[in-house]
Amino acid sequence: MSCFEHPVKSMAPRAPGVIPVELKNGARVKANDIAPQGVYMPNYNILTPNMRSPQYVQMSTAAGITLGIMNGRMHRTACTRCLNLLLTYPEGCRANCAYCGLARHREAERDYADRNFIRVDWPAVPLQRTIDIVARDPAKSPFHRMCISMITHPRSDEDTRTVLKQWTDRIDPKTIPVSILSNPTTMTRADVKRLKDLGADIFTVALDAATPEIFERTRGKGVRSPHSWAKYWEILMDARDVFGPQKFGAHIIVGMGETERDVLVLVQKLVDLGGHSHMFCFFPENGSLMDHLPATPRDQWRRVQLGRYLIDYKGGRAERMKFDGNGRVVDFGVAKDELEKIIGEGVAFRTSGCPGKFRDDVSACDRPYGDSPPSNIASYPFPPNGHDLRKIRRQLRIVEKD
Ligand code: SF4
Repeated sequence: MSCFEHPVKSMAPRAPGVIPVELKNGARVKANDIAPQGVYMPNYNILTPNMRSPQYVQMSTAAGITLGIMNGRMHRTACTRCLNLLLTYPEGCRANCAYCGLARHREAERDYADRNFIRVDWPAVPLQRTIDIVARDPAKSPFHRMCISMITHPRSDEDTRTVLKQWTDRIDPKTIPVSILSNPTTMTRADVKRLKDLGADIFTVALDAATPEIFERTRGKGVRSPHSWAKYWEILMDARDVFGPQKFGAHIIVGMGETERDVLVLVQKLVDLGGHSHMFCFFPENGSLMDHLPATPRDQWRRVQLGRYLIDYKGGRAERMKFDGNGRVVDFGVAKDELEKIIGEGVAFRTSGCPGKFRDDVSACDRPYGDSPPSNIASYPFPPNGHDLRKIRRQLRIVEKD
């Protein structure tokens, strides 16, 4: 695909296949009914235990290493600053989002607890064991934030509240604030309020798609998935009212067929509403309905990363930016010296998400290598060094200074 071609048509997902009834809804795991024995590492060669939230949660490989329940080392980083807890059920997520490794269409191929998600395995861990480890000394924990990731399941609202309550009973949310990555499809405004009342700090909505058309194609009727753009915006507006300014946000995946302009106009809308955007670079997740498609070209990703950072933290405005006929940024609407200084600081190219304890524009949620391989980093989970910045400048197609 040429960089100058509008990519919408070529980013179409595959159609989901038909699942035999005997493999639907986690039937295999429930029929085997193997009792879990502590931590479960995803393993395709043994029978998957019957685990469910709130007793069990899954966490990223990075969080498992940081928590000390997994061995392993990460490229150029020792830990993650965000403990992402993902609700888990044998039935799995009942949605079918085309870019997601957790999607329902995989139920014939792989049990839920064994599915890869944002490029890594997610071990399942007893919630109480997780809380016990962090509660030993929350102030000295490497985690700056905890995040409960809801999935689309009839029990996820109630179980999210239970996980939040059990956590905050032992760990002061002022010491380790809690974010909610919501599932609007099953939620009401009252659910949003209940989470705020239980001590949640930030509420996010994973719009993921930058336009209603891409939303419908990748996570709505286009892939037999239950989500709707209108419902996601309804809950996002509820979160704005309930959680207040700077305490709500939206996830956006860049590179699913939208233009750079589409994303930055949405980022501006979120900032004008009082919120933030958390950005992900599209990566073809193995086993997903988009695993045959190309990752986002780095020049596109870098320009959107920089534009988003300018709007979110530096007073930039989408309407001051200039775009070419294909919606690509050609002018960020910022003086050259100022732009050069911001690029040189490197923060714009770090992973974006809910803030940690270092500074407001540095995300606790650093998701090491969640949207790229270490050989071609999209979101830097650490401050980019001089070599990284030279590479970033080349990718931005901004002439490098000596
Ligand atoms: S709702 Fe979330 S977890 Fe479920 S398939 Fe969609 S993106 Fe994946």
